[in-house]
Amino acid sequence: MKDLDVIVVGAGIGGLTATLALQQAGFRVSVYEQSASLGEVGAGLTITPNGCHALYHLLGEDAVHAVARTPAAGAIKHYRTGETLVETNRGNRMREQYGAPYLQAHRADLHGALANAVRAIDPSAIHTGCHFGELQQGADGVELRFDNGTGARGDLLIGCDGVRSAVRRALWGPEEVSFTGYIAWRGLVPMDRLDPALIEPDSVAFAGTARTFARYKVRSGRLVNFAAFSRRDEWTEEGWSVPADVTDVQREFADFCPEVQAILAATPAGQCFKWGLFDRQPLPQWTRGRATLLGDAAHPMTPFLAQGAVMAIEDGVVLARAMVAADDWPEALARYEAARRERTTMVMRESHVNARRMYNRDPDHYTGSSHRNAESLGLYAYNPLTVPV
Ligand SMILES: Cc1cc2nc3c(=O)[nH]c(=O)nc-3n(C[C@H](O)[C@H](O)[C@H](O)COP(=O)(O)OP(=O)(O)OC[C@H]3O[C@@H](n4cnc5c(N)ncnc54)[C@H](O)[C@@H]3O)c2cc1C
Repeated sequence: MKDLDVIVVGAGIGGLTATLALQQAGFRVSVYEQSASLGEVGAGLTITPNGCHALYHLLGEDAVHAVARTPAAGAIKHYRTGETLVETNRGNRMREQYGAPYLQAHRADLHGALANAVRAIDPSAIHTGCHFGELQQGADGVELRFDNGTGARGDLLIGCDGVRSAVRRALWGPEEVSFTGYIAWRGLVPMDRLDPALIEPDSVAFAGTARTFARYKVRSGRLVNFAAFSRRDEWTEEGWSVPADVTDVQREFADFCPEVQAILAATPAGQCFKWGLFDRQPLPQWTRGRATLLGDAAHPMTPFLAQGAVMAIEDGVVLARAMVAADDWPEALARYEAARRERTTMVMRESHVNARRMYNRDPDHYTGSSHRNAESLGLYAYNPLTVPV
């Protein structure tokens, strides 16, 4: 098994996590990324304890804490009054309860740490400027063609190319995509443009009627990441880096409390983006022959449980464990999919349920007993290093 050449398409957080986990398990891995240079968008990312177990294992605790911070405390606040409705205790309680903390990071920082770790094992593992176009599978391997005219051969293919996965299309054909009715804006605001006394506690979601504004600190508390969710009847642009005008967000959230207004007013020019949330049905099967899917390519989900990247991270570690445990590659891919598909399909569905809950709630009667999140679903108790594969 260790003689296998594994090809990964897509060097996002999922692709790099899978690559690192496979490398550490002793496999040769080549990653092909469409972007000309490696990087991630400017945005925050929440890593819950179930994902943190994997990152600690792959990067080491110090490297993880160099790029991510544990919010001391969090809260759900009333959108208009700013009054705390529910305290969400994140600090040491998570580590005590689940054996790993709850983290918040700048996506580019975590992505950079994963890329550095991959390159430390194999400096030539990552190939940029390679947009995957075609796949051929045969008895002795897979052959890929990229749009730049180059190609690659290997024994197995892991498609980690995100929500609009070309590998998924090559395996399972084109599919229906539908707009969910939810849209969002995001931005990053330097803390030195804000009154620190206002940005308390570290992590807050402002619950409004049919709208939510969430914000938390990243980069050692020097930046505030925000995501503002609302509804629309129609949306045509898919992709989550469409430049937006912050005055549109200010208009949409004009009845939100002074903290939200301060964050929006301090958003630097060019630092606000918008996107519409699109939906795909769960696939009944991921693996076809020598190729399988991982991360958003396998199970794209709405962000209402903040679990998309965490599921991709879990996938990567479980895939590497399945490869080690199995006698041959068909068994490895079967074990990987059996271990992962049910859980990720459940999280896809529950993300939708949570969206409906968030948009239909009445902030004037919101209490701890009506609060639901990934933790109340039991998702944090999963450890990808120890689950059966
Ligand atoms: C606003 C928002 C907030 C979120 N917040 C959280 C959060 O707090 N916590 C969380 O866990 N998740 C969160 N998510 C979800 C998370 O961002 C995704 O689930 C995660 O990025 C998926 O990682 P991935 O590697 O599977 O895909 P991606 O990050 O999309 O990476 C795919 C990679 O493949 C490359 N690629 C694409 N097509 C090709 C091709 N044809 N050939 C070669 N390369 C290709 C891309 O360039 C990219 O580098 C959020 C998502 C959104 C939209």
